[in-house]
Amino acid sequence: MPLKTPEEYLESIKRPVNLYMFGEKVEEFWNHPIIKPSINTVMKIYELAQMDEYRSIMTATSHLTGEIINRFTHIHQSIDDLINKVKMQRLLGQHTACCFQRCVGFDAGNSLYSVTYEMDKKNGTGYHNRFKKYWIEVQNQDLMVDGAMTDTKGDRSKRPNQQPDPDSYLHIVDENDDGIIVRGAKVHQTGYLNSNRVIVMPTLALRAGEEEYAVSFGIDTNTKGITLVYGRQSCDTRKMEEGKLDIGNFKYGGQEIFVIFDDVFVPMENVFMKGEIEFSGELVNRFGGFHRQSYGGCKVGVGDVLIGAAALISEYNGTDKASHIRDKLVEMVHLNETLYSCGIACSSLGFQREAGNYEMDMLLANVCKQNVTRFPYEIGRLAEDIAGGIICTLPSEADFKSKEIGPLLEKYLVTCEGLCAEDRYRVLRFIENLTMGVSSVSYKTESMHGAGSPATQRVMISRLTDLEEKKKLVKDILDIE
Ligand code: SF4
Ligand code: FE
Repeated sequence: MPLKTPEEYLESIKRPVNLYMFGEKVEEFWNHPIIKPSINTVMKIYELAQMDEYRSIMTATSHLTGEIINRFTHIHQSIDDLINKVKMQRLLGQHTACCFQRCVGFDAGNSLYSVTYEMDKKNGTGYHNRFKKYWIEVQNQDLMVDGAMTDTKGDRSKRPNQQPDPDSYLHIVDENDDGIIVRGAKVHQTGYLNSNRVIVMPTLALRAGEEEYAVSFGIDTNTKGITLVYGRQSCDTRKMEEGKLDIGNFKYGGQEIFVIFDDVFVPMENVFMKGEIEFSGELVNRFGGFHRQSYGGCKVGVGDVLIGAAALISEYNGTDKASHIRDKLVEMVHLNETLYSCGIACSSLGFQREAGNYEMDMLLANVCKQNVTRFPYEIGRLAEDIAGGIICTLPSEADFKSKEIGPLLEKYLVTCEGLCAEDRYRVLRFIENLTMGVSSVSYKTESMHGAGSPATQRVMISRLTDLEEKKKLVKDILDIE
């Protein structure tokens, strides 16, 4: 059975990469205190897939090989698969309270599966079989795959082929019978360093004259010519301090990488789109749709943990019986479950593509993500309200643990009889972490910009809404000709 253990996964990513952080080259990144939590998070995916109680959610049967595989490598074969995807993402959010990074390649794979089929049907190319061969390797080796879409984009008012620097969008700079050579950069690369492979896609719908930018391919993440720069996040250097309490979520975290492709060779058998401008927009939309569905699961799981933290701190503060606190917790649950309803709804109304795989409802997936750009901020606001101002005035762990000042802080941090002051300290730091520290990147900023900023969903919602049909409803009721 091609299911890796967490330890086997960890071994598989211990490879040389050209990585920089704080202006210096990082060797053996898997031992770096800032990076380690993001690896723990991905290891959790592999761990849960080994457990009997989560097997039906975390694994699936491959339609390509008949093997039991990790669901993150599955090509959806039914509505149930689409629903189980969202359930799995909520489960992982609950277990890690951050971005677990493996969905991007999963969503890229499911998008390319149908788009390659449709390209072949129209143009007689051979992309679909190529992609299937590539994806069978992913399934059989239980590989973690990143999906790279966002280009640096240069001057936003100009098209890719009008940019002063043609590398502002990743493009083909040369090719021969064996393969292509690409140059450019992909940014906001969630989990890139923790991935064995990456699938690269265009970032927008391309037009005639922009064929060199219509390129999709899959390669190893440490292919020659690739340079990585680790993204900074709020309060990240707390992970380099002596204690762990000030970090908040000290076990788990996300990871964002700036990826530079400097004349990278891609063998032709790994190229899944080369110049098909008319399919570039569809690939972008499908990937966007799948990833907007994903947010109806992952952020809900993180929301569950934040709601739990708010409830716990109200208990520790002795405010849990106050009616306004209880009402705020109800509001948090209401908002969180609304997001989940959107994730489940767009999955339930999924449909089958000609290639045979299933896809979520595009309009509802975009509505889902539009809500995700808002509700986590309100849930976070309510958590801060319930926790109290102490989440931004709390002294450091070093003070809390110091021989001189520690006992005094402990005396004044205890609120209720029988309460351990350190437990209260931990929960306060955890809420701080999720609302304004490193994990706020996973919970809030990523909710805003991941899978496309709010405006991109509104474009899709507008495109997919038939206002004429709605006007006709009124006319029919009112007998207006
Ligand atoms: Fe997965 Fe959510 Fe992270 Fe995207 S933001 S990779 S959907 S956990
Ligand atoms: Fe994301």
